Amino acid sequence: MSDIWQRSTNIILIVCITAIIWMIFGAVKALFFSSLILLWMVFHHIRHLVILERWLQLSDHTPGSIPAGSGAWDDVFAHLARYVRRHSQSRELLSLALKRMQNVTSAMPDGIVILDENDRIEWCNPIAEQHLGIDLSLDAGQQITYLVRQIPFVEYLAARQFSNPLVLKQTRMQNLIISLQLVPYGFNQKLLISRDITRFEKIETMRRDFIANVSHELRTPLTVISGFLETLSSNEHLNPEFHQRALALMTEQTERMQHLIEDLLILSRLENEQNKIKEKTVNVVRLLQGILLDAESISAGCHHIKLNIASEDQLLGSEEELRSAFSNLISNAIRYTPNNGEISINWEKHNGQGLFFVQDSGIGIEPEHIPRLTERFYRVDNSRSRETGGTGLGLAIVKHVLSRHDAHLEITSQVGKGSRFAVLFPAGRLIAANRTDVES
Ligand code: ADP
Repeated sequence: MSDIWQRSTNIILIVCITAIIWMIFGAVKALFFSSLILLWMVFHHIRHLVILERWLQLSDHTPGSIPAGSGAWDDVFAHLARYVRRHSQSRELLSLALKRMQNVTSAMPDGIVILDENDRIEWCNPIAEQHLGIDLSLDAGQQITYLVRQIPFVEYLAARQFSNPLVLKQTRMQNLIISLQLVPYGFNQKLLISRDITRFEKIETMRRDFIANVSHELRTPLTVISGFLETLSSNEHLNPEFHQRALALMTEQTERMQHLIEDLLILSRLENEQNKIKEKTVNVVRLLQGILLDAESISAGCHHIKLNIASEDQLLGSEEELRSAFSNLISNAIRYTPNNGEISINWEKHNGQGLFFVQDSGIGIEPEHIPRLTERFYRVDNSRSRETGGTGLGLAIVKHVLSRHDAHLEITSQVGKGSRFAVLFPAGRLIAANRTDVES
């Protein structure tokens, strides 16, 4: 308001001065004076217009870059400064929100790719770069199908049926299985969400294999038993010899199933994370002496079995679980060593660690099988394992027991010469023999 008043007074002052000049010096001088004033005003506006144009051509319009003006232009530039300040504030807020959104999506365990209406990559987070082999700095603007070329994905994208995810097994990264889900949003845009399901798929495969294996293991003895039962029930006058043989075989098959179920129950107990290990001080020497007696009775004098004790150290752990692991290793040595073979059971201290090992002079194992021996139902020779009453679960049980005792298994073997199954217990689990028992 005061500006308008000041500007009006200026005009009134100029008019008054012109009138006074007119009266004193005549019309020509008055006209000359008013022309000079008008010329000065035109020059003033042109100068400010040039300043404004130069400012508009700047690439960065910060509030600090607004030029200073005088007269009416002072107001114009002040309004402009306010507008630029407001605009840059909202731009800052917007880029802050965008940055926050990018940080959130970058921290997500799933990959996210934003696709435009032509399936071109607009943006993606680092996990999506890993899953799909994308480099955002190079691939932004590229068609996603140039980078993810698998036919099932191209078909999935073309079908536009986004209700179900797609499982992709052959990705650029080896051994990676990902699930891809497209979510449409906005104007024909899409969000591609990728999830690493490798572990889930492995567990699923293991579950399927496990059920198939257990069914297979149970089917054979059940077939034998049901065959005999059918023969026995349909033939009343069978000779006693056949009767005896049938009963013996049925008993054998029943025991086989019992062993299998017992081993499955042991495995399930060991795998149950809720089932915490009940630790106490285990007298290894006494434990091994007990197992030796069982081993001699299994071998029935067919092998030379020796127990070598080089340490009196005891172990902190579960006696029941350790008995199961040691017995499995020793019974394997007996079952895979021909008659008259040598078997040694050893307990010693090695580099401060507890070392238990079973050495046999048996059939040995080819190197390619060794890494897989502790898998459930993995057998090198199916028929030998079954003939000797094996369930295929012994070494899987050993592996679980050892991992619960922070110990690990080392297998060395030579075909035709024998095998050595060694277990190393960490020093922290060893208890010197003269120390009192620890219960927990
Ligand atoms: P199984 O009940 O079949 O013996 P395990 O899990 O105990 O199952 O062992 C897996 C496989 O490892 C066996 O089938 C056998 O082929 C091999 N194996 C285990 N111990 C020995 C050994 N001492 N000598 C040779 N082969 C062995």
